[in-house]
Amino acid sequence: MFHNVVYCGLISHSILDDQVVEGKHKPIVSKALFLKVHGIQEAKNHKSKHNKANENLPLKVFTTCAACESPLTYLAKKKNIYYYKCKTVGCSCNKNANDLHGKFTDILNLHQIDEKLIAPLKTQLKYTF
Ligand SMILES: [Zn+2]
Repeated sequence: MFHNVVYCGLISHSILDDQVVEGKHKPIVSKALFLKVHGIQEAKNHKSKHNKANENLPLKVFTTCAACESPLTYLAKKKNIYYYKCKTVGCSCNKNANDLHGKFTDILNLHQIDEKLIAPLKTQLKYTF
């Protein structure tokens, strides 16, 4: 209910370019209550988004298990070290996040472009795309 501004006497619609304007209808809840509850929900939403994108685990779901090819999620950190974990039941693939990040960085380093080739590459990309 508190996601829709109509309940506090306002209107928002794509016809109005999604601007929020005063409606002519009687509000069910006050704007103050709407904003108060909406603020609480925004805080909860922000918290859950933060949990989904843990900055200590940038390869979560991006990397897959070598044994069963299931996306790696994470295991609660132990002794201040994060671990990636295969979510397949019975597959005991756990990877130390620091080790995996190091290996990933090594792979990225293989794809560095020589400084003198950057300008011609940019020119070619401009022609291609
Ligand atoms: Zn696995």
